[in-house]
Amino acid sequence: MTAQIDLPPDPEDAPLADDLKRRFAAIVGDANAFTEPSDMTPYLTETRGLFAGTAAMVLRPGNVGEVAAIARLASETRTPLVPQGGNTGHVGGQSPRSPGQILLSLSRLDTIREIDPVGRTITVDAGVVLQRVQEAAEEAGLLFPLSLGSEGSCEIGGNLASNAGGTGVLAYGNARDLCLGIEAVLASGEILHGLRRLKKDNRGYDIRNLLVGSEGTLGIITGAVLKLVPRPAGREVAYAGVASPEDALELLRIAERHGGAGLTGFEFMPRLALEFVLRHIEGARDPMQAPHAWYVLVEISSSRSAEDARETMEALLSEAMEAGVVEDAAIAKSLGEAKAFWHMRESMSWAQKPEGGSIKHDVAVPVAMVPAFLRAADAAVLDAIPGARICSFGHLGDGNVHYNISQPVGADTEAFLSRWREINGRVHAIVAGMDGTFSAEHGIGLLKRDELARTKPLAEMDLMRAIKRVFDPNNILNPGKLVQV
Ligand code: FAD
Repeated sequence: MTAQIDLPPDPEDAPLADDLKRRFAAIVGDANAFTEPSDMTPYLTETRGLFAGTAAMVLRPGNVGEVAAIARLASETRTPLVPQGGNTGHVGGQSPRSPGQILLSLSRLDTIREIDPVGRTITVDAGVVLQRVQEAAEEAGLLFPLSLGSEGSCEIGGNLASNAGGTGVLAYGNARDLCLGIEAVLASGEILHGLRRLKKDNRGYDIRNLLVGSEGTLGIITGAVLKLVPRPAGREVAYAGVASPEDALELLRIAERHGGAGLTGFEFMPRLALEFVLRHIEGARDPMQAPHAWYVLVEISSSRSAEDARETMEALLSEAMEAGVVEDAAIAKSLGEAKAFWHMRESMSWAQKPEGGSIKHDVAVPVAMVPAFLRAADAAVLDAIPGARICSFGHLGDGNVHYNISQPVGADTEAFLSRWREINGRVHAIVAGMDGTFSAEHGIGLLKRDELARTKPLAEMDLMRAIKRVFDPNNILNPGKLVQV
């Protein structure tokens, strides 16, 4: 289903010669080198079906040495490599685009190398699935707070390469904030041994931070040291019904005042998003009896006790209700219900799928401007497509809105999706006018590459291209993604 979105043209690389394929396959063994379309398809199809990839082969190295050997051969033969983790990225960064490119899956690098409970770190291979890191931290009595709807399949290498955000950013920061050290293979095949556990290290330019967010264009991440945090002694989750985004923002101020650093979740969504979840996600139940125009999911954590978390949640909700900011609220009565509340929020992307085509945005504006953004964007979108169903949910505490638009009921999906760029243009113009960003957490990949080049200040684009040339002089690492050289 690529035709509807207008993407940059595919590279015209010559197909990889058979003898070269055999040399690459010899590094990982035939069992881990796929050339048959049926074996490659799962790696070439992304979750939303928007990018149909093409590759010469898929390689699945089993250790850092094999990754380095692949990069050395690729460098010598100028063969493009496209790193892939869990294949859940939303911007096509993990999709190879020509029969001359090799898809390099890091999924077999899946060892949890070490947990340091005193320094509160975990050292993992790049291919470890995010949920496994969360579970390992929990077993050690700690918490790894990176949390995404795709956590059951996305991998740490992909999380770092795309500097993933998610629902924990408000309290704990994004993937970059949670990374202390990185091990990576450079384009030359040299291994960068940076698995440091230091909280402070001021020895010049920070290569780790360049690799984080580089979307596979500067190096292949093979391992990382991640920060863990103490597990809260108590956690409370509630849904609050509010009349407007302005009231949601006022609730945020009240929640921050009561919760302080213990405000660990603040997600907002319109009734329509909840209706999609109730309609399509098994087991989902309306948290409140009457419908509300908007909903906020609030999470309060306490390092002291469950009672403390409960009291804080009750105090903030009762102040908000007395002030007329909250119409009604439901606090989860059990751990199971708290999980179910979160599951509804995390299922919102999936729940949109059965509703037909959906034009997506991943924007951020200064937090205080979210209501004004929504008003302006809604007007612009409905003016262009009357009947469009606007499903704008996200991380209000970060000013990050997944401004998704489902097709009008009964509309032709292809015709609707063909307007992706036009609608992006309208919404992104409003975002730019508010000094916001059109890529808050999903990255650039292929989908937003040309828009980045058009809109980012020239001096910054020049520096990005110069950095790319230093790390990857032969342009073999994920060429054509993020920045074109
Ligand atoms: P992939 O999709 O495989 O790759 C992503 C990028 O990283 C590509 O450019 C790829 O080349 C590069 N890459 C992957 N592994 C490596 C490596 N080892 N070394 C170098 N480069 C590498 N994202 C958010 O930020 N916040 C969210 O809340 C969020 N929610 C999501 C919900 C759903 C249901 C889905 C499907 C996706 C969501 N995403 C979200 C997007 C996606 O899950 C994240 O971007 C995730 O971090 C990607 O990880 P991955 O392992 O799947 O990477």
